[in-house]
Amino acid sequence: MEKTQEKGGIMSIIVQKFGGSSVADAECIKRVANRVVETKRKGHQVVTVVSAMGDSTDHLIDLAKQVSKNPSVREMDMLLSTGEQVSISLLAMAIHALGEPVVSLTGPQAGIKTDGVFSKARIMDITSSRLEKELDEGKIVIVAGFQGITIDNDITTLGRGGSDTTAVALAAALKADICEIYTDVDGVYTTDPRLVKNAKKLSTITYDEMLELASLGAQVLQPRSVEFGKIHKVKIHVRSSFNHEEGTIVQEVSDMENDIVVSGVAFDKKSVRFTVYDVPDRPGVAKDIFKTLADRSINVDMIVQISREGSLNDITFTLDRDQMEEALKVMKEVIVNIGAKDVTCDDDVAKVSIVGAGMITNFGVAADMFDALAEEKINIELISTSEIKISVLVRKDQCEKAVRKLIEKFDLAEESIQSIE
Ligand code: ADP
Ligand code: ASP
Ligand code: MG
Repeated sequence: MEKTQEKGGIMSIIVQKFGGSSVADAECIKRVANRVVETKRKGHQVVTVVSAMGDSTDHLIDLAKQVSKNPSVREMDMLLSTGEQVSISLLAMAIHALGEPVVSLTGPQAGIKTDGVFSKARIMDITSSRLEKELDEGKIVIVAGFQGITIDNDITTLGRGGSDTTAVALAAALKADICEIYTDVDGVYTTDPRLVKNAKKLSTITYDEMLELASLGAQVLQPRSVEFGKIHKVKIHVRSSFNHEEGTIVQEVSDMENDIVVSGVAFDKKSVRFTVYDVPDRPGVAKDIFKTLADRSINVDMIVQISREGSLNDITFTLDRDQMEEALKVMKEVIVNIGAKDVTCDDDVAKVSIVGAGMITNFGVAADMFDALAEEKINIELISTSEIKISVLVRKDQCEKAVRKLIEKFDLAEESIQSIE
């Protein structure tokens, strides 16, 4: 998009996203309206993405469950997309009341085209002509997060937390100068600040580290939004909608914390452990298991194969709690086909991970992690690693203890608060 020439300079485009807690009630919506107008009046072109108000997506899910045990995914998307439509119209009204020209657009109206995987659709393309036209007319454009439309004109949603992805994808399509993600914490911390009160706020983090943290359970950004950011080099600023403090910049290189080996600790209490017993030891069985799961869009995470005596193996893997029932149903068919003995699943587990770009060049990080967990007598059930992360599966009731210990071990807490003297 051509950026508008204004008073001899080039106007910057800013995409701002406000999450559910930032638009939870009328007062919050008015506060967001002021913030958006403030940005516009500084001379920027503003596109604002909003989520559904407060917990309204959860309430809609509850409602669906009350009318059907197994609601159709298409109808779920139809239902859930209404949440965002409420907040875009209310925010547009509040901005209008402040005297600024504004228009609200649903995802489809904003040109967001997705594939047809209901409930976790992926953005395939954005036709930004309508957005550009509205911006060129001097309007603030409010876009509904979390939704798009297929080529067959069906409404889709992008998975929980998907408004982040709408915002970063729009920032990429419009070549925006920055994508600001306003939320209920001051930025990205070394771990969830709700669990560890003295977790440290990071001033910068790399896309790769953020992608790992987000994929491993840090809810603050949807992983797909970070992927978009990385591919299209969108500068993402995660910050609070309740104050004007600088937050955390997600970018290619992290300049401040370069010498830090471990940047953060993530945890995921929604992991479920599956074990398939007595799997025949022949080529192709692993493919049979994991291809069948992949064909149903079931995402598998940690995988471990343990050889048993004779020609039998046990295969253990983890996946998300939301896909447990479906995966169990599928696996019961698979074990018959491959001639395995049994399959069990256990949801009393949690995955705890350390993430840091510095791990690539530092030896001994895994040993330090296991040492810290051993000191707390925490048993490790599974381990998986990549270049910049180490994850372990532990009993769910040990999760918090493990996170706190790792924060301490890798020096990721704020120094104790000094007295003013
Ligand atoms: P929004 O409604 O604005 O999208 P979310 O609830 O999706 O907000 O994400 C913000 C939450 O993410 C915070 O309230 C915090 O509890 C959680 N969180 C988890 N891990 C982290 C982390 N490492 N840094 C910051 N916040 C985190
Ligand atoms: N409203 C959706 C959700 O609760 C999308 C979002 O908040 O980003 O998951
Ligand atoms: Mg979110």
